[in-house]
Amino acid sequence: LPLEELIATLAVDVPDFPTPGVLFRDLTPVFADGAAFRRMVEGLAAPQQADPRAAAVAHADDGAAHDPGFDVVVGVEARGFLLAAAVALHAGVGVVPVRKAGKLPRERVSADYSLEYGTASIEMHTDSLRAGQRVLLVDDVLATGGTLGAALALVEELGAVVTAVSVVIELTELGGRARLAPHAVHSLWTT
Ligand code: IMP
Repeated sequence: LPLEELIATLAVDVPDFPTPGVLFRDLTPVFADGAAFRRMVEGLAAPQQADPRAAAVAHADDGAAHDPGFDVVVGVEARGFLLAAAVALHAGVGVVPVRKAGKLPRERVSADYSLEYGTASIEMHTDSLRAGQRVLLVDDVLATGGTLGAALALVEELGAVVTAVSVVIELTELGGRARLAPHAVHSLWTT
């Protein structure tokens, strides 16, 4: 089964969550399936590849010297953590968290972004990335792009470079890709 069909089959649509009129895509069953999770992680780790299956083969053949195209994976709390850690392990690099406000103990940078109602704030430790480091930014769902846009701003504020943004699902009608331009967005399933 092609990966996008596997994701589409296992993901569960939940109408009217978290508020009436919203169709929520629940990816937890995809995460819970071993084969689907592995292929999802391989796909997210290969943002330059149109076909994640080809990328997985290329990666296996290249051995330890393979440069995945990024030096570190940045994941957005909380579902992004499940993916980012696995992608980092797969690619042989480290993982850095973007957290909701109030969770990180040391000196940090913050970015505000708008939600459907009100605003939210996310943070990173100031020393969590080095200038010029190549970052793969990972989250589960790209909707309006507000969350990933704010995460992108934080990464750039620290002087690092976002080489790609990888998501499992892109909800195209919400325009997130345009909001993240000119950064490349790699989505495993667009709907
Ligand atoms: P944004 O509108 O792109 O900022 O999305 C906001 C956040 O809500 C992201 O971190 C997404 O992971 C999450 N999100 C938005 N829509 C969905 C959905 O349908 N399913 C699961 N998560 C969602």
